[in-house]
Amino acid sequence: MDLQILLNEIAAEMPTAPDRGTVARYIPEFDCVDPARFAIALALPGGECLTAGDADEAFWLQSISKFFTLAIALGRLGDRLWTRVGREPSGLAFNSILQLESEAGIPRNPFVNAGALVVIDAILTASTPRAVLAEILSFIRSAVGEEDIHINKSVAASEQNTAHRNMALAAFMAAYGNMNNAAALTIGTYVHQCAVEMSCRQLALSGRFLTGMAGAPRLISTARVRRINALMMTCGHYDGSGEFAYRVGLPGKSGVGGGILAVAPGRASIAVWSPGLNAQGNSQLGTLAIERLARATGWSVFG
Ligand code: GLN
Repeated sequence: MDLQILLNEIAAEMPTAPDRGTVARYIPEFDCVDPARFAIALALPGGECLTAGDADEAFWLQSISKFFTLAIALGRLGDRLWTRVGREPSGLAFNSILQLESEAGIPRNPFVNAGALVVIDAILTASTPRAVLAEILSFIRSAVGEEDIHINKSVAASEQNTAHRNMALAAFMAAYGNMNNAAALTIGTYVHQCAVEMSCRQLALSGRFLTGMAGAPRLISTARVRRINALMMTCGHYDGSGEFAYRVGLPGKSGVGGGILAVAPGRASIAVWSPGLNAQGNSQLGTLAIERLARATGWSVFG
């Protein structure tokens, strides 16, 4: 199968889809995001990267950044991280506070906001926001293999000004003794991690370390790669994770910027970007596009 032709077909088909979803609007920066944008990129063994659509246009990682910080935290703390955050799907929205009270301030998994805050709080301990952000950027740049990746300061500032829900999550966990740093430091670091911007092509390159394929950067052990992929499969799309696993059959992580990173072990790292979101806050056309790709290639972790 000619993968470039397939990507071109997918990029040509997507604008005809009846429902593009709705672009996030919780910070003013999203007002400038064109809902008609679409990109798909495929990083393959040996370093080749195929793209179609607006694959060199930058967007904000938002929650996709959570798999990078999880990789860093596991490298730093190892399995001790799991005393503070669980490994179960939440079945609730990414920013829900509901389970925290009945589960004594331990978030369900590292990909819901509460869990990502614990992860960043764990990395922050014995460090500073500046040093942690430098480490996150350096990890991401190594994963991509390019230096030109930055934090959008205006997005980070807007996120900080509207972070009431994340502040509530942090305060609630602090009440249970599950926050080590001042909430302002943890949230400040978290909103900057979410505001990392890169293109769809760069996102595809960045996921190679989770594929185990030839030529991919080796940033973490194979055992950790498997565990991060397992968590992306079960929790990477929040209350849409079951649906994503059923339709796509690959581990994936979404963000409200409209990006999705999916991993086809041994075969490819796949990135899509389409800013319109579905009801669960995951890219509507991005999901459709990866589903189409997975069906055409037969790529699935389920056989
Ligand atoms: N910055 C967003 C938040 O914290 C990220 C959420 C997401 O991408 N799902 O709410």
